[in-house]
Amino acid sequence: MKKNKRIDNKQVSDIQYNVSKNNSLKSTLKTNKGGRAMGAKQEEEPKSEWLIVSPDGSIIKVEKFKWAGSEDLKVFYSYESSGSREVKEAPAHVKMMQQMELVDYEPAADSGNFRWLPKGHLIKRLMERHASEIVKDYGGIQVESPVMYDLKHPQLASYLKRFPARQYYLLSGDKKYFLRFAACFGQYLIMHDMGISYHHLPVKIYELTHYSFRREQAGELAGLRRLRVFTMPDMHSLCVDVEQAKEEFYQQYLLCKRWMSDLELNHVMAIRVVDDFFQKNRDFVMEIVKDFGRPVLLEVWKERFFYFVLKFEFNVIDGQKKAAALSTVQIDVENAERFDINYVDKDGKQQRPLLLHASISGSIDRNLYALLELQARRIQKGEVAKFPYWLCPTQVRLIPVADRHILRCQEIASKIGARVEIDDRKETVGYKIREAEVNWVPFVGMVGDKELENQAIAVRERGISGQKEMKESEFSQNLDQLQGDKPFEPLSWPSLLSKQPRFR
Ligand SMILES: [Zn+2]
Repeated sequence: MKKNKRIDNKQVSDIQYNVSKNNSLKSTLKTNKGGRAMGAKQEEEPKSEWLIVSPDGSIIKVEKFKWAGSEDLKVFYSYESSGSREVKEAPAHVKMMQQMELVDYEPAADSGNFRWLPKGHLIKRLMERHASEIVKDYGGIQVESPVMYDLKHPQLASYLKRFPARQYYLLSGDKKYFLRFAACFGQYLIMHDMGISYHHLPVKIYELTHYSFRREQAGELAGLRRLRVFTMPDMHSLCVDVEQAKEEFYQQYLLCKRWMSDLELNHVMAIRVVDDFFQKNRDFVMEIVKDFGRPVLLEVWKERFFYFVLKFEFNVIDGQKKAAALSTVQIDVENAERFDINYVDKDGKQQRPLLLHASISGSIDRNLYALLELQARRIQKGEVAKFPYWLCPTQVRLIPVADRHILRCQEIASKIGARVEIDDRKETVGYKIREAEVNWVPFVGMVGDKELENQAIAVRERGISGQKEMKESEFSQNLDQLQGDKPFEPLSWPSLLSKQPRFR
């Protein structure tokens, strides 16, 4: 049993912290291990129990679980139960994102605000597009809500007062505003004004939240893991009853699973549930665990202290043995009430819907952190670092053996549907190959006299020794297959390396 201080529901509602332990406003609020803010004034002590639920249906206390084969889950649990949020050394991804010219600090802004350099920005755009496309295919209706709100708005003012330390405030004339810390309430305000009937449900409102702002504690800022401004795909679904909410929850869980798979991210799962809901819906929770196929950390709350009765998150483990939550779905039983969101039932009566929060990916910034940290762990183990193909800023690097082969390289680049760079610099072929490796370019194609004559390319694939002579069409087909149905954008910088400026 783990004990936590009493948490005020009203206070934590809407503050959609999509991380495990993220809110430590030491001056005014304390943080419980589940990652929600707590008021110091509350008296009662809520209790949660940590369990491990396995795909075979067994549920055991965490102390009795044999961790062999579930090492990441073990790290996750120990981080959840005793880990510190404080960051003592720069996480591995920070150096990587700088060296690869993806993202960099912005000394002229507040800490936790970054410059997105062309290659990092390309990755970010592709992830944003992919998350939005997944949600839109599922039926999400896209909207955009403001980034700033009136501090005196009655519904917003009440809980904002409880989070004085994490807001950015904005003065304009004699009015005071705050910058949003999530898209949740922007969407509630839209939903409040919508005309919704039972036959519209479930209705799903979606926003690619560009941006949300949180003044995290300076000591907890950690590169792209925890920043002060971030991009988050955020969807809220209104459901007619618990059965419909469960159905949508499951569908959204599958979308999250797809996201993690498309990003090739190793992850562990946590399910957090209120005991009463768990007892009534045990089979449903089991169905998810069975589908997940690996043991899951289950946190059961004796009573409901938060706005949700059920949530899950996918968490990644980084090189510092810290966990960070990405995808999440939650069944919210409070905020439809607070924001007076209604639908009209068969008999023409106003009813309160259930509300689901979902972020299919979690923060986009944090996904790049996760990708880089995963590579850092791979490198530690002596493995080859690589991004998923569709996210590689450069997918192919062509190397002309001599200047007379540059034209042919340009011809190839124009024909294959990939992001192709040409290393036309006055360097040796060996140097150029090594440089492509340092940049994690998945394919290097060399073109010399022999290839010119054979109308071929000598292709080296990252992580595989040797090279293979391929016709342009064969190479191109292979690349198309790797790209699949993921979003694609051409290079947004010069393809000739000699024309590319340095960004740091
Ligand atoms: Zn939300």
